[in-house]
Amino acid sequence: MRLTSLCLLGLLLLDCKPDEPPHNPVYQVPAEVEPYVQAFRDEAAKRGKTLKIDDLIVEFGETSGQDICGVSQIASNKTPRITLVREWPCWTRAYSQNQEALIFHHLGHCILGRGHKTALLPSSDYASLMNGEYMGVYSPCLYPIGNTPCNLTGRRTYYVDELFNENTPVPAWGK
Ligand SMILES: [Zn+2]
Repeated sequence: MRLTSLCLLGLLLLDCKPDEPPHNPVYQVPAEVEPYVQAFRDEAAKRGKTLKIDDLIVEFGETSGQDICGVSQIASNKTPRITLVREWPCWTRAYSQNQEALIFHHLGHCILGRGHKTALLPSSDYASLMNGEYMGVYSPCLYPIGNTPCNLTGRRTYYVDELFNENTPVPAWGK
């Protein structure tokens, strides 16, 4: 009984891989991306979550797969790596909100351990920044059509809330 408890504790503390020492954290983030990593940490703190982000590599390069503007590589005992596509329509989009959404999405993978969530709100808007298809979730406010009322701050608040808490209630504009 006691042995089992110790082994469980060992699993939790050492990940039961004594032959694989923990890797040294690497933090390598381009200056143009760093403000979004800081914003992510700040938004977490506003929601009562203290995040230590000291093991992360962000780079620009080529990707293939589901996330066309970037890809996250996460493996045990390795520094999480985010590769971003610089060419239009990805990083070079005019609006910084889309850059933020892209970085927040990948930090959702790498730091929060979240996967993709493709659910829609009743309004047909994506329910989450963690959708793997569309980084422009704030966009209806950036490209207003007709007289549709739009509240960019409200939309962003919802998506950032949902990023840190999947049980965030559907906002009024999403009904
Ligand atoms: Zn993704």
